[in-house]
Amino acid sequence: MKRSTTNIGEIGTTIEVGDYNFLFIRNMSATAVEELQHHAAVVIEAVNQDYVRMVATSIRANPSPDIYLKPIFLLKKDASETPLIDVLADDSVKNLSELESLLPLVGRIASRSQELTFINSISFEAQLITKIISLLYVRELKVIEPVPYTYSNICYYYPLLSVNFDHVDEYMALEILNIGEEDGIFRSEFVDRVYLCSTCSSGHLSYREVCPKCSSSDTTPDDVIHHFPCGYVGPMKDFSNQIDDKLDCPKCNKRLRHIGVDYDKPSIIHECNNCNHSFQDFYVNAKCLSCGDDRSVETLKATDIRRYHLTKKGELSAVKGLITTTKDIDEVIGTIKFDTFKTMLKYEIERLKQTEGSSNICAIHITNSSHVYSRLGSELQRGLLKDLVTVIRGNIRTADVIAFQSSSTIVLSMSDLPAKIGKRILNAIPELLHDLIKTRFDDLDVHFECRLVQLDYTKSDEVHLQELLEGYF
Ligand SMILES: [Zn+2]
Ligand SMILES: [Zn+2]
Ligand SMILES: [Zn+2]
Repeated sequence: MKRSTTNIGEIGTTIEVGDYNFLFIRNMSATAVEELQHHAAVVIEAVNQDYVRMVATSIRANPSPDIYLKPIFLLKKDASETPLIDVLADDSVKNLSELESLLPLVGRIASRSQELTFINSISFEAQLITKIISLLYVRELKVIEPVPYTYSNICYYYPLLSVNFDHVDEYMALEILNIGEEDGIFRSEFVDRVYLCSTCSSGHLSYREVCPKCSSSDTTPDDVIHHFPCGYVGPMKDFSNQIDDKLDCPKCNKRLRHIGVDYDKPSIIHECNNCNHSFQDFYVNAKCLSCGDDRSVETLKATDIRRYHLTKKGELSAVKGLITTTKDIDEVIGTIKFDTFKTMLKYEIERLKQTEGSSNICAIHITNSSHVYSRLGSELQRGLLKDLVTVIRGNIRTADVIAFQSSSTIVLSMSDLPAKIGKRILNAIPELLHDLIKTRFDDLDVHFECRLVQLDYTKSDEVHLQELLEGYF
């Protein structure tokens, strides 16, 4: 048999396998996952489960496709199953020499990744739908399976999607999948139903039988006794005496003989040790272990957990890129498309070659957009975007244009204006935006960062945009 000629050499954190470089992350090492953009795949030494979960999660939650799409392999000596990590990872090997067998898979994922188009989506929902459909597409997977998971805030986890959310916001994954289904990107089927806190959407609830009067769960049950000869009905404690364990009827004073002959126990009564109320039927309350809310089970949100399948339209959306969901606005009034903005920038640079003028492009970036959008429903999100545009529009001249580069970055032009004055106008905008947000949204903290780049006709439009948008997603 012909022996393989592939070399597997380890240099620092890089392992060379055939023509590919793999990033090797050793157990508990402090390797930055950003390194992965320079590698074809990552191999994580799976010793400590928490560590593996942390690394795999931060890769899949990364906003850059150069990182989140990359194959994750586990190096594990035993065959232990870890349902969540196994979904986040692509495969596992027992020792590094087996990596060679994974090369065809690495090649397939790399070439399918090339087929995808990444457009900056205008909404948080569209961004996350893009992520999940891209992950499915490059792996030739079609199903998003909910995994029962004790650490999940809603008891079920969609690993490739849920990793993008903080623990308290995990229920948002369900909203994203719903929106995707409404747009025909997924179809779904019922798997299970969970009950979530109506205040914070957590599924970690403690169910208790409580007193209908004061909601205390500190109650004591007692048998109800029916004395046949006199017809008296009352709790057992009314029949007991101080001297012996025999029972005497409080109404007719006769001693009770045999159950079924002269008396029976038709039911149970509960006495509340908090308010002394006696009752037969409990209320059932659910106490939320996350926010402490304690309310009747009828107030809980019954929520379906479904299995989702990628449709043909979903596959196409991955290949073509997805900018908005139908829930988003196709175009926010007062803005132009980002592509049009780029074209106009190109012309403006050309124009500056002929004239002595000074023109600028600016960006207003929401630095905590994931936080902001995950707190607003799509309705409010649309409202926020409209408001931002209205305020900006009110502060620039009619000849200048506004466009969304992504749901977190607004770009605008300030033509024929000295950079100094442009900066002054730009820097005043966040203050106005904050005032407006305060009146429209309760308790919403939005952080803005502004940048201005003065146009230089010796540089291309691409270079200008790179400078303006560096580090923004
Ligand atoms: Zn009570
Ligand atoms: Zn009696
Ligand atoms: Zn709660």
